[in-house]
Amino acid sequence: MTMTIAIDDQARIVSIGEVARGLVCGCRCIECAEPVVARKGPQRVHHFSHVSQKQPCEVMPESFLHRYAKQVVEESLGLQLPPQPGHHPDSDDQSSWWDFDSVEQEVWLGSFRPDLVAELPDGPLLLEFACTSFVDDEKQALIEQLGIRAVEVNLSGLLVTPTAVGLQELRRAILHDVSLKQWLYPPASAPSMGEATPLSVEVAVETEPRNQMPEPLRFSIQGLWVDLRVLEFGSVVVRSVAYSPAIAGLLKRLARQYSGRYVAKFRNWMFPAWAETFVRQELEALADHDQHSPAHVSAAFSALSAATQIDLGSYLDAREIHRQYLSGLAPECLPWGEFGARHFGTGLDCDALEDLLKSSGVEILGVEIIRVKGQMDFAYRLRR
Ligand SMILES: [Zn+2]
Repeated sequence: MTMTIAIDDQARIVSIGEVARGLVCGCRCIECAEPVVARKGPQRVHHFSHVSQKQPCEVMPESFLHRYAKQVVEESLGLQLPPQPGHHPDSDDQSSWWDFDSVEQEVWLGSFRPDLVAELPDGPLLLEFACTSFVDDEKQALIEQLGIRAVEVNLSGLLVTPTAVGLQELRRAILHDVSLKQWLYPPASAPSMGEATPLSVEVAVETEPRNQMPEPLRFSIQGLWVDLRVLEFGSVVVRSVAYSPAIAGLLKRLARQYSGRYVAKFRNWMFPAWAETFVRQELEALADHDQHSPAHVSAAFSALSAATQIDLGSYLDAREIHRQYLSGLAPECLPWGEFGARHFGTGLDCDALEDLLKSSGVEILGVEIIRVKGQMDFAYRLRR
């Protein structure tokens, strides 16, 4: 077969029409990585050939489809998407083109690395491209835990021909075909609530994103603390600060009732955005009223909703903690009790640090999203 696509010296997938003639194109074969020559003479169809003059490789779609999809979105800085759940555009065509400020690959978000993270003025959007493996329950739970908008692009049904024309068609489908795209978060609809009137998801998702570090709302139930935290885009995290079988039973009941689920990794319960009011009211009703009257709790919640400034000085640098572990100073140099540690972007080897923390008895209470000068960052809540 004729090879009309290759990989250039920037590791981009390119078609023969985009490159200079000859070896100067700086390209390699997609399959065997041997340098290729761009043959663009007058006689034959333009194509690439191996410098060794061996037979052309048969280029398989799985060798480039996933990679090409990421490249297309990175270079286009945008994507046509179906309406975000809860949004009802006032037009016949419900889909719309989303412009991205930037697109990054290889960004670790806690223990999860989406294919792409697009930054928009109102916050990030995660993109997953599925060829054969789709987002599973575990990944879905992590996305809900993060509470960040996410879309899966299904590439599995695409007819892929590894040619210059095939790339063009692929590019069009990836960018413009809305039927390939599905919102993973926010969820498509709230589950049915028995006889209750349908809930408006819109109310939850159109709330202004909370740009500050979410402060927990603390309830005292049977003398024990239970924290409720609202993450960006509305997901609700409930955590019993100390373990008690009675409290665990209560939270399990709330989870059954309001579509919550237990996230073993963080030992907390995640609820969808629509459940916030219900869960909060339930916890208020359960709270020990000699300490927290409902009025008092409501007042605390209003204060929570008001803007609170992040005190950046209260976060340690997680990269520095990692270095201290490597040089043998941690965990002794870490503070006692509960403290926070920022990731500072993407340079942190989270898995390595989390292993070190756990093996030295430092508890990871959770991962939170904070915003620093408009940029998203992650922070561990830790306890020694
Ligand atoms: Zn080859």
